[in-house]
Amino acid sequence: MIVAIDGPAGSGKSTIARELAQRFGFEKLDTGAMYRAVAFMAADRGIDLDDEQGVEALARTITIRFAPVEGALRITVDGRDVSREIRTPAVDATVSKVAAYPGVREAMLEPQRAVAEGHDIVAEGRDIGTVVFPDAEVKVFLTADPRERARRRVLQRHGGDAPDAEALEREVEETLAAIERRDAADAGRAVAPLVEAPDAVEIDSTAHTIDEVCDRIARLIEE
Ligand code: C5P
Repeated sequence: MIVAIDGPAGSGKSTIARELAQRFGFEKLDTGAMYRAVAFMAADRGIDLDDEQGVEALARTITIRFAPVEGALRITVDGRDVSREIRTPAVDATVSKVAAYPGVREAMLEPQRAVAEGHDIVAEGRDIGTVVFPDAEVKVFLTADPRERARRRVLQRHGGDAPDAEALEREVEETLAAIERRDAADAGRAVAPLVEAPDAVEIDSTAHTIDEVCDRIARLIEE
């Protein structure tokens, strides 16, 4: 069984994929983390992100793996744990550029498909239902109002310690602008753009809790 969850930045894909994987005992595949790893490694090795061939060569030669460490899933590149390094604003701002290079996407396909060999999986990203697993049994396109996505991101960043209303509003505005830039780049690229698969079920999570969205997808899995 393959469950594909696609959607724009901050729509809750990761949280929901994690919950569902736990609930059903499936493997989880975070494809965004792989593109982030390429963007981070390129910068780390001093490769100019405009150098398409250089970035593509890097993507073809590195080995990206996911492995559980003390209960949490970590991502490694050639054995180096980069889980923290791929979640920075610098990577947020550059990942769409490397993800638009056809050779980078090509290099990610085989390792992404390999995760599903012999396993039930919940895979999340932008092109899971359209390119990576077009035959997935369950396809969900998860959306939410952009401002709500930005607000959730900011609250998540602060944990239980939300800033005062004015600071919160300022941060939401900045995050909203960054999210909209990334969505536009991901939807506008020539290869594997962010689009809803024709046979996906669209779920708008704006007015729903994580549990409600998980229950809805669980029913699709159980059908
Ligand atoms: O899911 P996340 O926000 O971590 O993804 C980071 C970036 O990786 C996206 O903005 C997009 O540019 C790229 N990505 C992609 N295809 C996927 C998953 C992510 O192009 N399947």
